[in-house]
Amino acid sequence: MLNYKSNKGGGPTVDFEKAILDGYASDGGLYVPEYLPKVTHSDLNKWKSLSYKALAFEVLSLFIDRSIVSAVELRLLLDECYDTFEIKEVIPFHQLETRDETYIMELFYGPTLSFKDVGMSFMVNLVNFFLKRKSEHLSVIVATTGDTGPAAAHFVAGKSNLDAWVLYPKGLITEAQERQMTTLPHANVHPVGVFNCPEGGDDLDVVISQLYADDAFKNKLKLSSVNSLNWGRIMMQTVHYFYGYLRIAKEVGAPVNMAVPSGGFGNLCAGGLARKMGLPIHYLVVANNQNACLNRIFTQGVFSKQPIHETVSSAIDILVPINFWRFLYFNVEGDTAKIKEWMETFERTGQAIFDAETMAEYRKGFLSKSISDEQTLKTIKNVFDEEHYLLDPHGAVAVAAADQLKAQLGGHPLICLATAHPAKFPETLERLLGADQMPRAAMHSSIEEAKVKCQKNYTCHYSHLHTALKETMNTHWDLHHPA
Ligand SMILES: *Cc1c(COP(=O)(O)O)cnc(C)c1O
Repeated sequence: MLNYKSNKGGGPTVDFEKAILDGYASDGGLYVPEYLPKVTHSDLNKWKSLSYKALAFEVLSLFIDRSIVSAVELRLLLDECYDTFEIKEVIPFHQLETRDETYIMELFYGPTLSFKDVGMSFMVNLVNFFLKRKSEHLSVIVATTGDTGPAAAHFVAGKSNLDAWVLYPKGLITEAQERQMTTLPHANVHPVGVFNCPEGGDDLDVVISQLYADDAFKNKLKLSSVNSLNWGRIMMQTVHYFYGYLRIAKEVGAPVNMAVPSGGFGNLCAGGLARKMGLPIHYLVVANNQNACLNRIFTQGVFSKQPIHETVSSAIDILVPINFWRFLYFNVEGDTAKIKEWMETFERTGQAIFDAETMAEYRKGFLSKSISDEQTLKTIKNVFDEEHYLLDPHGAVAVAAADQLKAQLGGHPLICLATAHPAKFPETLERLLGADQMPRAAMHSSIEEAKVKCQKNYTCHYSHLHTALKETMNTHWDLHHPA
């Protein structure tokens, strides 16, 4: 049986169900599987023509013991998640005409139009499945830089055994994204708009950590977490790397590059793990915007927190790529003491520096770039003018980074991950292309419908968020879950 433990080495080893329901490990670390399952070329050949859902079943079965989720239950869960996607294939590809063998992997056809739907749908359904089986109820708190919140709110909405408190930095996400959370009528979804966040979405995580550290409160409300520090999201996200590779590679073993717009490193952590499992991805491109912590890690070997830049690719305005710590575990031969020391040094001083040997190990197969807003916008405009395909600002960061790294990437097929639908960023696209030039691809019916609905949310100032939120959550709990 594949069990899970903390990347910091503390606390007990737990089974898959507990790892998912806990979110964080008890020592504040991130859960990792005790070993990575291996995939052979012969497995990959067998999987070559599978649908996304059928492939997900195979990949997840490597991580989830049948005694915890049976084959029938896993199939049902996957049907429930991915039947909510707008397109039957779940993840379609678009080949660009003006670049050699370059494919856009469109990860944004889920109900809230970003790649967060891919991992969150499964995570939330799985959590609810476990809770129902145990007749328990959990509350989750999530912070968002724009896309996690809508996805969490959407999938928690109406689930019998869950409540979601969704915090977002007021004014730092688009109105389209805000309305995806605030126009849901369900009583178990509680969006909280927070004014004056000094460091964007990252500040909200500070308050959330404080609430999780408050044992009496945590136990009373049965707090858990569905943000990307939950292993369930990472595990699910490995699947689209397998799927993309098998769709685009000429044959199993042939090199394929993938470029990924990155902030928290949840998506790329999954890609890096898929490769370590045996998927022959050639290079993974770390595409950062001006918030370039990952770029510093991959080019200088320094994990450091710097002041936030507000950019047009706001979903990756992330200062601390928390999932890098998880990935690191697999690059130091499981030396949890080292990870613990680096994580604690970073928490204490705002910086951790990796030794040359460690850096050489985690850099294998990665290239990295930080892209300015100017370059992002130019890429959207060029691709649109030249071939009438509309990239969202995040997909554009990936394409721009791959363009700049062309010489190093070599002439292999390239997959750029497009992580959001352009309709989530109308202000930026209208400014760039002109309001009267907006193509149909810049609109989506769900975004249009949300514009004419009432909004329902709490608001709060950052300076008293901790006290205010605790009080509101307590009161809500007492009203709805009387002892
Ligand atoms: C969350 C998000 C990303 C970044 O993913 P990470 O796993 O945090 O690196 C990229 N693009 C969009 C649109 C997102 O919502």
